[in-house]
Amino acid sequence: MAALTDLTIAEARDALRSREVSATELTAEYSAVVEAIRPLNAFITETLDLAAEQAKQSEAKLAAGTGGALEGIPLGIKDLFCTEGVLTTAGSHILDGFIPPYESTVSGNLKRAGAVMLGKLNMDEFAMGSANITSYYGPVHSPWSRKGDNRPLVPGGSSGGSAAAVAARAVMAATGTDTGGSIRQPAAFAGIVGLKPTYGRCSRWGVVAFASSLDQAGPMTRSVRDAAIMLGAMAGFDPKDSTSADIDLPDFETALTGDIRGLRIGIPKEYRLDGTNPEILKLWDQGIAWAKAAGAEIVEVSLPHTKYALATYYIIAPAEASSNLARYDGVRFGLRVPGDTLDEMYANTRAAGFGAEVKRRIMIGTYVLSAGYYDAYYLKAQKVRALIARDFAQAFEKVDLLLAPTAPTPAFALGEKMDDPIAMYLNDVFTVPASLAGLPAISIPAGLNSDGLPLGLQLIGKPFDEMTVLRAAGVLETAAAFTAKPEFVGAGQ
Ligand code: GLN
Repeated sequence: MAALTDLTIAEARDALRSREVSATELTAEYSAVVEAIRPLNAFITETLDLAAEQAKQSEAKLAAGTGGALEGIPLGIKDLFCTEGVLTTAGSHILDGFIPPYESTVSGNLKRAGAVMLGKLNMDEFAMGSANITSYYGPVHSPWSRKGDNRPLVPGGSSGGSAAAVAARAVMAATGTDTGGSIRQPAAFAGIVGLKPTYGRCSRWGVVAFASSLDQAGPMTRSVRDAAIMLGAMAGFDPKDSTSADIDLPDFETALTGDIRGLRIGIPKEYRLDGTNPEILKLWDQGIAWAKAAGAEIVEVSLPHTKYALATYYIIAPAEASSNLARYDGVRFGLRVPGDTLDEMYANTRAAGFGAEVKRRIMIGTYVLSAGYYDAYYLKAQKVRALIARDFAQAFEKVDLLLAPTAPTPAFALGEKMDDPIAMYLNDVFTVPASLAGLPAISIPAGLNSDGLPLGLQLIGKPFDEMTVLRAAGVLETAAAFTAKPEFVGAGQ
């Protein structure tokens, strides 16, 4: 058998059920890697003792034949999910010492399925970022590095801790959240699979809010099958989230038939942007060739409003964030910096508690919502958002799926692009449109560039059609046969 930390969830599940491996053994192996990769700063909080306890309970359940779908599987949880009794920071100073008295629906679903939590993963502050450099707890380093160059690279963001931990084999899978690309872009940078489900598929209850009309939880894994398994456990209707979809949950694993003959795959011509890294364009062509060879029909489609997507997102997301983040006032949660008056206490707390990027977003958000500018910015952005969604709906009259790159560049070094927020926002150019339209989308690792860094391909599907997204992703995954591993993998390798 492969090293325990190289097993996929699907393989580990079989090994656990046949008692070839024990949950305790598996958790211990992973815990050793969690300790070994501490220099990457992927975790904000480790819960290894709790994990050992949970693994023991899983062992009893497996022995009794009552194990859940993820019984004994060691996972990491992005620190945006409230976890009962375990520090939850959203990567922010303002949530200092916040120990939620409740569990988010998604992490609760995973727990109930038997998953073992190894810890809470580092992330950009309030999920705002594309490089995991805005965390109050410091940047995360990617486990990958460029050939012959040991400068630390970013893992992508905002789910950078999740991406780094999954790629470095410190967890078998992790949760991420995606508001404008934060599952897919770090998955592409780290050479793993990241699935953003349809908006409404996974409950937002107990997930610290960034931009509520966009936020969506999803799995980050090392295989497409694992993404299907994780999604099955995470998703489902939740009456506690008013935008949760009351819709049947298919068995996502059955999507992986390996057959995409006759599937119509659209290639959005507006995604061929000037300035996109040529190796990424080449990989895109390679993806098209793989899909064709597997019997799919390739159709060029047009999404004419794509060029407005980033501007639209960077109005809507900050607007919602400015409203959501009003709750951090020093009274209800976390940090409090005293002042002579109540107003001064609010101001002191927020000045000390939020980092620069969060403050920038709050200012942009309050500006675009202010009386004089609401019509010119926020309302206009809402209208453009509807046009972007309509572009997709029209394309999906002709095709079943869309294929595009995930990100316009491979991972960059820590320090590059850092002083220019606009350059950073450009990372999201291929991921934001599907977010604005609420569509399911996946990134799969499809190749390495000449520096030896992973590159991702993205498939975007119709609303609630994760089945087709997973089916095609499975076929591309097989064709790509991506087996590369980062250099920085922990103990036991
Ligand atoms: N990078 C984007 C942003 O900074 C997306 C973040 C996300 O999806 N959470 O807003």
